[in-house]
Amino acid sequence: MTDADVVVVGAGMGGMAAAVTAAERGLRVVLLEKGAKVGGAAAYSGGQVWVGNNHVAARDGIADSAADTLAYVTAAASRDASSLDRRLAEQWIAAAATAARWFEDIGVITWEVIPGYPDYYYPDLPGSRAAGRYLTGAPFDGRRLGADRERLLVSPHFPVGIQYGEMFAWGGMSSRTEWDWDLVAQRRADDVLTFGTGVAAAFFRGVLDRGVDVRTGHEVIGLVVRDGAVTGVRVRGPEGETTISGQVVLCTGAHDWSAELSAKFTGIPDDDGGSVAPNTVTGDAIALVEPVGATPAALPAWAAPVLPGYRLAEPAFDGDTGYRACFEHCLPHTFLVNARGERFCDDAFHPRIVAAALGDEQGGNLPFFMIWDSRHHRKYGLGATPPGGEYPAGLVASAPTLRELAVQLGIPGDALETTAARFNEHAVAGEDPQFGRGTNLSVRLFRGDGRHAANPNVGPVDEPPFFGMRMRLLNTGIAAAGVRTGEHGRVLDGAGAPIPGLFAAGECATRAAAGVGYNSGYSLSRAMAFGFLAASAIADAR
Ligand SMILES: Cc1cc2nc3c(=O)[nH]c(=O)nc-3n(C[C@H](O)[C@H](O)[C@H](O)COP(=O)(O)OP(=O)(O)OC[C@H]3O[C@@H](n4cnc5c(N)ncnc54)[C@H](O)[C@@H]3O)c2cc1C
Repeated sequence: MTDADVVVVGAGMGGMAAAVTAAERGLRVVLLEKGAKVGGAAAYSGGQVWVGNNHVAARDGIADSAADTLAYVTAAASRDASSLDRRLAEQWIAAAATAARWFEDIGVITWEVIPGYPDYYYPDLPGSRAAGRYLTGAPFDGRRLGADRERLLVSPHFPVGIQYGEMFAWGGMSSRTEWDWDLVAQRRADDVLTFGTGVAAAFFRGVLDRGVDVRTGHEVIGLVVRDGAVTGVRVRGPEGETTISGQVVLCTGAHDWSAELSAKFTGIPDDDGGSVAPNTVTGDAIALVEPVGATPAALPAWAAPVLPGYRLAEPAFDGDTGYRACFEHCLPHTFLVNARGERFCDDAFHPRIVAAALGDEQGGNLPFFMIWDSRHHRKYGLGATPPGGEYPAGLVASAPTLRELAVQLGIPGDALETTAARFNEHAVAGEDPQFGRGTNLSVRLFRGDGRHAANPNVGPVDEPPFFGMRMRLLNTGIAAAGVRTGEHGRVLDGAGAPIPGLFAAGECATRAAAGVGYNSGYSLSRAMAFGFLAASAIADAR
């Protein structure tokens, strides 16, 4: 048996924030990670950490306040106001700003504001900002990890090495023809780590520098309980089953890869779902806390921050699950339709797609399909397929007419033609009076073609041949359900009382601090803030 002051379970964003904090405060920390590498979904992520009223924006002369941040978070959750716990929201907002500054002060990470990137609902919601709330790490030199570099996950979903400012200047996430590929290659050769991989690398370095005992390949399979208090964990590793004593901070992430939990909490059928997170993210905390009387709390399925995507018929690299998030549906010369061949929402803005596809509007729109034309193919490509390239086998249908394409996709051809005609009539002028595609500022900037005149997200679908594929709603390491927690991430029992010795942070904990509202960057921010709070509470009590 090993003795520690704190046992942190899961080495993603929440776990590494908790481990750094506890170790910096002088506690003995063991960090257990069931995967072969550290980083979790955080290392796969875009590395956007949404922090209102943060010191980096203030340094750059951008004005903000905790009150405006709370107003925005509250308004974003207003469709189900009861889903938001105001006390937890206030604690998250304050702690995220404090933790961001503290982690920089103690040398863990250097933050940068993602330039010119607005809140999802700017300017529509009160308290929203045109820029300043998205932090990400300054480029991290992977060589600083030495031999431990091997133990860090690297994102297959983002062009690790380049920075947001560069990507925006080159036309956005989807304008890959315009990118400076020589520079990208140089950054890769120099092992420059950016996006979520860069943030995870910085925290991993911080963990190692503070002498945390990091054990990869170690899965926590149970809690040790004495007299109603959690006093440690049971862990399975290469040496067999052992026990480690200490107060426990669960940071096991979301439930993406548990078919049972995903079916229960998001209701997305297998054929329409999947995940772009690492496959070790399996919702373990929910079962781990059951014996101590804690229960999960869930948000409605329509609030799940899943992403439109698809699955390759063949994996592209060793360990590849084939799931890919799709950004190309946001570009000109494409739209989405349901099985009736009809558009059903602002199909460039993913929260609207998710809400509409999961039945919030018009009685449900699963399955749904992306339809595009030869201009889209020529200009943008799809995922790793370069513009004009051949799409992966078995993924994309193609035909000289929309009617023939519809037959291949199993949707009515006359309806698809009518839909295209209606869309094209206004798309020439970059408009979509039906659903307002191309009006959301964040989508225009981050997911459009900045060089496409009239509208970065809207262009007609009228040049043959036509293409189509069935889409999925992919989980992104952000959970619909998590363990019920209170202030400082204390896990609560069925009666709402804190269970001594047990904390949870990140996506394994309920999203009550943000409720049904979602803005990119909330997840990493909450994980960082509550990891920091949980470890601070343990340190303060000693
Ligand atoms: C492609 C992609 C892009 C994203 N972009 C963003 C973004 O820009 N901004 C944002 O805020 N969010 C983003 N997210 C979501 C974000 O990455 C996650 O919500 C966040 O990482 C959650 O942090 P966490 O600490 O709770 O869990 P994770 O970072 O997922 O870490 C959980 C860790 O726990 C480990 N674990 C699980 N069970 C056990 C066990 N029993 N024993 C030991 N270890 C265990 C897992 O292996 C994993 O390493 C993105 C996600 C993806 C996949």
